[in-house]
Parts: sequence; C-alpha cells; structure tokens
Amino acid sequence: MGRFDLPRTTFSSVSLPSIFQNSLPRFSTISNAKEQFNTLCSKGHIKEAFDCFASEIWAEPSLFSNLLQACIPTKSVSLAKQLHSLILTSGCFKDKFISNHLLNLYSKLGEIQHAVTLFDRMPRRNFMSCNIMIKAYLEMGNLESAKKLFDEMPDRNVATWNAMVTGLIKFEMNEESVLLFSRMNELGFMPDEYSLGSVLRGCAHLRALIAGEQVHAYVIKCGFELNMVVGCSLAHMYMKAGSLRDGERIIKWMPSCNLVAWNTLMAGKAQNGYSEGVMDQYYMMRMAGFRPDRITFVSVISSCSELAILGQGKQIHAEAIKAGACSIVSVVSSLVSMYSRCGCLQDSIKAFMECEERDVVLWSSMIAAYGFHGQGDQAIKLFHEMERESLPGNEVTFLSLLYACSHSGLKEKGLDFFDMMVEKYGLKARLEHYTCVVDLLGRSGCLEEAEAMIRSMPVRADAIIWKTLLSACKIHKNAEMARRVAEEVLRIDPQDSASYVLLASVHASAKRWQNVSEVRRAMKERMVKKEPGISWVEVKNQVHQFRMGDECHPKYAEINLYLEELTSEMKMRGYVPDTSSVLHDMDNEEKEYNLTHHSEKLAIAFALMSTPEGVPIRVMKNLRVCGDCHVAIKYISEIKKSEIIVRDSSRFHHFKNGACSCGDYW
Ligand code: ZN
Ligand code: ZN
Repeated sequence: MGRFDLPRTTFSSVSLPSIFQNSLPRFSTISNAKEQFNTLCSKGHIKEAFDCFASEIWAEPSLFSNLLQACIPTKSVSLAKQLHSLILTSGCFKDKFISNHLLNLYSKLGEIQHAVTLFDRMPRRNFMSCNIMIKAYLEMGNLESAKKLFDEMPDRNVATWNAMVTGLIKFEMNEESVLLFSRMNELGFMPDEYSLGSVLRGCAHLRALIAGEQVHAYVIKCGFELNMVVGCSLAHMYMKAGSLRDGERIIKWMPSCNLVAWNTLMAGKAQNGYSEGVMDQYYMMRMAGFRPDRITFVSVISSCSELAILGQGKQIHAEAIKAGACSIVSVVSSLVSMYSRCGCLQDSIKAFMECEERDVVLWSSMIAAYGFHGQGDQAIKLFHEMERESLPGNEVTFLSLLYACSHSGLKEKGLDFFDMMVEKYGLKARLEHYTCVVDLLGRSGCLEEAEAMIRSMPVRADAIIWKTLLSACKIHKNAEMARRVAEEVLRIDPQDSASYVLLASVHASAKRWQNVSEVRRAMKERMVKKEPGISWVEVKNQVHQFRMGDECHPKYAEINLYLEELTSEMKMRGYVPDTSSVLHDMDNEEKEYNLTHHSEKLAIAFALMSTPEGVPIRVMKNLRVCGDCHVAIKYISEIKKSEIIVRDSSRFHHFKNGACSCGDYW
C-alpha cells in the first residue's frame, strides 16, 4: 500500500471524538508544521497533534515514533491502543523502528501482556526489540522469561548485556551478575555506568573484594573513574568488603562531592563499626551546606543507636522532623531502634504509633524493641496485630519474635513461632533463628535438647551458637556440658576470650579450682587477651567512659568515696559480694575491691552523683553484666529509689525497686 492513498483517518474516527479537531491554525511551511507538531507532542497533546497533522503523518509515517514516545508520560493505555490501531491501519507496523517504539510504549506502561503479544507478532525483530522485552520482563519481576529470551538471542549487543547484568542484581542474583559481567568483558563488550554500578553492588553484597578490584580495573579502562554513580558504587564496594580506607580515598578523589557521596561514606563507616566517624562526617556534611535526606538520617540515627547517645539522637530526631523526614518509614524504623537501644521504650512506641504507613521493617523493629526490653507478651501481641493487617512477617520479623520469646522465658510460644515460620510462612530458618531457639531452650534448662538441635540442624554451626549454649551451661551450672561445648567454640575460634572466661567461671562456681587454673593456663599459652569491660554513660550530652579500677577519670576520688558509702549501705541491707566469678587468686579483700570497681558500678555511681534524684540512669556495657554487679545494681535501685537501665552485650536490664526486668536470667 502506497503512503499517499491512505484514508484520512483521525483519532475521532478510531474512537473518541476530538474537540480539538481543526481548532488549531494550519501552517503552510513544512518546518513550521514540524515545529508545531513537536511542540504538541512534547506537551503530551497526542490527539491534537495527530488530528492537526494527520496528512503530514500519513505522508511521513516515521512521525508515529514521535507520537509514541510522547505517549509514555501520559500513562494512558487507551491512547496507546488507539495509536496501535492507527499504526496497523497505516501499514507501517512492518517498520521495525516504529514497532519497537510501540513495544517500548507498552512495556513502559506496564502492559506486559500487550507487549508480549506484539513482540510475538512482530515480523522483524532486532536487538532493540529483544532488549526492550528483556527490560520489560525484568521490570515486571519475570526473571525466567528475561533469561530465556537472553539465551535464545542469536546475537546480543552491548545494551543486551548491560540490561541483563543490571537486571540480575535487582533479583539479588549477585553471583550470576558478576559472572555474566566477566563473560561480557571477555567478548569485548564495553560496560556502561549502570552495569558497572550494578556489578559493583553485586560484589559489595558478596563482599567479593578481588572481583571488585577487577571491576575497578575496568572502570579505569573505560574511563568511568570520575563518574559519580560509578565512583560511589566503587567506594561502597570497598567499604562493604571491609576496606574503609580505599572507599574513602575514592570519594575524596572525585571531582565534586554530592549527597550520594556523603551518604556512601557515612553508610560505609557505619557498616565498619565506626559510628563516631559517622557522626563526625554528618556534622562536616552539614557545615559544607548539604541537606540530609532519608538515607543520611537512617545512617546517622543508627549510629546514635550503636553509640547509645540519646542526647544527640534526640537532636537528630528534631532535625529529621524539620526536614520532613519523619513520615518516611525507614527513618521511623531507625528511630524506633535508636530509642529502644538507648533504653527509652516509650519513645519507640510513640514513634511507631505516630507513623501511618507501616511496613514489615517497621513492625519488626517495634517487635524487636519490645523483645530487647523483655516484654515478650507485647511483642507477640504486636505480631498478631500485624497478622490482622494481613502483612506477612519475614525472616527478620520472626527473628525479632524468637528473640523476644527467649528473653522473656516464653519457651513454648517461641517454639510454636519457629514451627509457624517454617510451616505456615514457608520461610527458611537461618543460623540466627537456630541461635535464638538454642537460647530459648538453654534458658529454660533444656540443655540436651539445645545441644541436639545444634548437632542436627541443616546449617553449619558457628562460634556464636555454641557460645549461646555455653552461657546456658553456666546459668544451669552444667560443668560437664560446658567443657564439651567450650571445646566446640574454641575449635572454631581459639582466640575467643569470652568462652575461656565463661568456662572458667562454670568451674569456679563448682569449686573445681584445678580446672579453673587449667583454663587460665590455656589462655596464657594461646596468648588470649581478655577483652576489658568498658561502660559508658551520657551525662549532660557528654559521654563518659569507665574501665575497671580506672583512675583516669577526673572525679575518680569522689566516685570511689561514693561507692564505698553505697556498698556499706548495701551490706546493711543484706548484700554479700559474690566473689565466685572473680578468677584471680587473690585474697577476699582484693576480690571485693575488684568487684566494687567494675566499670558498670563506676559509671552508675558517677551518673547518680551528677544527675538530680529520680532521673533514670542509662548505662551501656560492652560485655555482659556480671552476676555480682547485677545483684548490686538491684540494691542500688532500691536505696537510691531510681530507675537504672543497663544495656549490656546481650540485652537490657531495667532495675527498679530492687528487681530487674530480666528476671535474673541474661
Ligand atoms: Zn560486675
Ligand atoms: Zn537483669
């Protein structure tokens, strides 16, 4: 069919009547007409553009491409279908350029079924048609079809490879993506910034430093070194793989620093445990005039939570409110965790309640917060509420739930949830879940069951899960099992000082002094250093750190005096220092001095001295609170009539009126 003898079809004759028909002035010159046509297209007036310039379009069907392209932002499927029938009428469907535009339009509108039908009927497909379809499949979450098409293509161009490398990352197929990337390079295809960024994200996820370094070489070869997207991905890869310095260096060499670069740097420091560094970076970023976004807030608030610096955390919260970031669910989740970890459960609840759009991460954070504070029943209640809102929990939700059950002694409930997770929700139990269950069983004294679980589970045991059982052996004074379990821990991690200490104290409480000195000798021989206990407390926005018997603090003399007075008052009420956990061969007086000067006692004494009466005291400790300190703090909370909240390496202890929320199990 010739292009000049086509009927003058208009949009109205195909479907809807157009009120714009012939309402616009006609232009005599071709260039004017084209200009007018393009203006209408760019403004999204598709029907008007067609109706006014129908004759030009029939004369030059390639103009359909402009109409199709302009149709994308209108998001109108009916418009797309009308254009489709016009193209069929015009006979220019055979033009692969136009048909590709139509295919692209359907895929961009999310009309995957229309795209598939069209693709099947296309008389002449080329690279572009296949690439559009691959991207469309990936976009719609249909990885299988994307892969099938990719494999069936006799030839692929650089865009095909880039699309597939980028797409695989979206499905967390990191290894496949990295492998495909290297195949792509072997065949001589140059990656673009997106596939480079994607493959670097894949390497970061896999913590594959060597592969990442090879990609770095490509980055240099392709001249993308100074590209912001690639540079940030590169820095992220290095930092995620634990090479913080290299990451920092890349960001510092970049020609300019944008918010993404700052955020990359902060997230990297947070991942590597440099929470103080995150805070410094944040203040530097503010001074440089950058406004934080939600990603910034999440990193910074998480660091406040790590450092348990409530004062600064509140300040950042205020800044997030000002920036309008407090309606963003990821920011709220980090606030919930921050307040919980700083010991302010009430503020966590408040932040949670005020958030309207809750996602599974936020629910899980709140469940974890309850668990952290030993409120297992509340955690369970929240989980059922979540179920009622038809929001399915994920692995993290169940981990929080199991943690909550084990820290509240809810053994049966916890085991039920474990079954529910696997059977009803079809989720796969990971090592962390098993560790929680072992903790749950261990706490309730089912030591044999716990050991059997570790030995029979389908995932490989690590030092942590054995250590969890070792603590249970200590609590239930099972020296036989403790020795067996400690062997398992030390086989995996011979330098783990905490296990030696745990084992020694199990022997000590059974008065098996011979074994105690054996353990100590082993420690010496293997040159294992005991991690020193450190406690810290925030007073008037300043963080004070204490170590055992630390005399560096300017107020040490006063603290010492205060502690002595406090101890004698405690003794009057019946406190007997529990020296069984002290391993040194010292006389009793020395043991007692050591005990009274544990870092958490120093921190609590200092906080009591420096804050008005009745203000809750929040102390953080890097190790577990020892048995004697736990008893002592209960007395202190009674004598001083104050609430003392201690966060140790495993949980929160709320001391009030002579009792602790953990029920003496931690
Ligand atoms: Zn202690
Ligand atoms: Zn406690």
